[in-house]
Amino acid sequence: MPLVSMNEFLPKAKANKFAVGQFNMNNLEFAQAIVEAAMEEKSPFIFGVSEGALKYMGMEFTVALAEAAAKQSGLPIALHLDHGSSFEVAMKCIRGGFSSVMFDGSHYSFEENIRLTKEVVKAARAMGVSVEGELGTIGGVEDDISVDEANASLANPDEAIRFYEETGVDCVAIAVGTAHGMYKGEPNIRYDIIEKVAKAIPVPVVLHGGSGVPDESIRKAIAAGVGKINVNTENQVACTDTIRQVLNKDANVYDPRKYLGPAKKAMVEVVRSKIRLFGSSDQA
Ligand SMILES: [Zn+2]
Repeated sequence: MPLVSMNEFLPKAKANKFAVGQFNMNNLEFAQAIVEAAMEEKSPFIFGVSEGALKYMGMEFTVALAEAAAKQSGLPIALHLDHGSSFEVAMKCIRGGFSSVMFDGSHYSFEENIRLTKEVVKAARAMGVSVEGELGTIGGVEDDISVDEANASLANPDEAIRFYEETGVDCVAIAVGTAHGMYKGEPNIRYDIIEKVAKAIPVPVVLHGGSGVPDESIRKAIAAGVGKINVNTENQVACTDTIRQVLNKDANVYDPRKYLGPAKKAMVEVVRSKIRLFGSSDQA
């Protein structure tokens, strides 16, 4: 199966109240672990690729890994640019073979965010590519993006609704109290904002910063209208913790497969548990 746009599964997620996971891809082992878990669960999913990860892997390898996963699994898989910072980078990804892009105009003024997002939607739609927009500023640190708590701001639900109506995005990320990275405490998620926005628009709300959020909070967020959840840090932690354990146990290990293999296994566990929690098993 070729890579698909998020519209291949997001309408079903919205209608049936489940969420599709965006699992970020950082290298071959991430790609393999994510697709292995999804195949076991027969779940659609989204490969998220940040601009930093794209620089790290290169366009050709990134697209080839995602295409190989789609071909091998037969699953509906979207290859999605995470937090695209400009029209140009979104177009570069579409030309390179991405089936979906996020344009993050949240650091612009509301009107400018609408204007720029609209341009991306217009160009992407002509190519059959789906678009995620963002409103409000999600806190935390991920990749090149760092927003301290003072500058993180919750989305205004009325603005989020207007943002959807004017841009026609396929899903909208709104800042509702989660943050990028791993939580130390429990996030204070504003389910009321999710619910108000999700009820008023026909596309799902996206929850960023899904790593380390308690399962019960995730279930409540999905019930309130979240249809796409981003997970990256939790896989990174599982991967690196496992590698550290293997190397600490045996200083003579030199074959990368001896630590990357177990790291991959640990990530399969993370992705499988998220897919089950999100309710997307058997929805492929
Ligand atoms: Zn994000």
